[in-house]
Amino acid sequence: MKIKQIGVIGAGQMGQGIAQVMICAGYPVQLVDLSETALEKAASTTQKSIAKLTEKGMLNLSHDPLALLTLDTDINTLANADLVIEAATEAESIKVSLFKQLDSICRTDAIIASNTSSISITRLAASVSHPERFIGMHFMNPVPLLQLVEIIAGLRTSEQTKATVTEVAQAAGKVAITVKDRAAFVLNRILLPMINEAIFVLDEGCATAEEIDQIMKLGAAHPIGPLSLADLIGLDTCLSIMEVLHSQFGDPKYRACPLLKQMVAAGLLGKKSGRGFFDYEVKAHG
Ligand code: NAD
Repeated sequence: MKIKQIGVIGAGQMGQGIAQVMICAGYPVQLVDLSETALEKAASTTQKSIAKLTEKGMLNLSHDPLALLTLDTDINTLANADLVIEAATEAESIKVSLFKQLDSICRTDAIIASNTSSISITRLAASVSHPERFIGMHFMNPVPLLQLVEIIAGLRTSEQTKATVTEVAQAAGKVAITVKDRAAFVLNRILLPMINEAIFVLDEGCATAEEIDQIMKLGAAHPIGPLSLADLIGLDTCLSIMEVLHSQFGDPKYRACPLLKQMVAAGLLGKKSGRGFFDYEVKAHG
């Protein structure tokens, strides 16, 4: 199937990044979010990020990508999309309700993909009438810089759907690797327990947040420390992924650190809220 028009739902950090790489690849994208503010922020981030990547020589486009981006708060505008990539908040109830709406809005031959970090694609696919055209497309954060996309086929996903979204990911300059539909797939099943352990280490007072990050950078050659990475991912998303791992495998090794739960309850969500394990508040001067 030839993809000509892409819809992206959720204009947070992931939806914005996905929209950006798709318009740069030449696909017209309709970006939908409930929040006008999120859409405005996504448009401005997209413009700045494209300008910066172009200036650094990392992008050299012969078309105007921003002319391919439209923003909307109304999901009904996705009626003509060939592919809808859902990147809304990591909560199964939100996603299922969106897929039910898309099921009645989209054409019957449209492909629906979820960027979920952890929720079973087979289970999410049960909320649409054409599970053969439902798939997981798990992009990495920050989307414009990281090359991997995990492709997750549910039990009823067709080979054609898999081939079509693989082609779209490749057209956007990504390396697509197909993995089995297991909780948190491959990357986050390995990454999140490590981040959770770093939070336990912090909570036990073994080292400061700065020291934990420095230890993993200097001692394990990680480009970013686990606590800075947690702040970048968003602590609410980290907690949701740990809860999915815990409930799906029933193994106590996946229990979320109480400090992670407390920080989410306190609204300290990381970079996106201005504070997490580190402080990102922009201080007003003058
Ligand atoms: P985010 O909190 O930055 O953004 C979520 C956006 O979804 C918000 O703008 C919110 O307004 C919007 N939204 C919520 N409900 C909606 C609805 N019903 N209709 C339209 N928009 C709605 O979250 P994020 O970090 O961008 O994560 C989005 C998805 O991507 C999640 O499933 C997450 O697990 C996944 N993901 C996140 C990362 C990461 O590092 N943060 C990496 C890979 C995948």
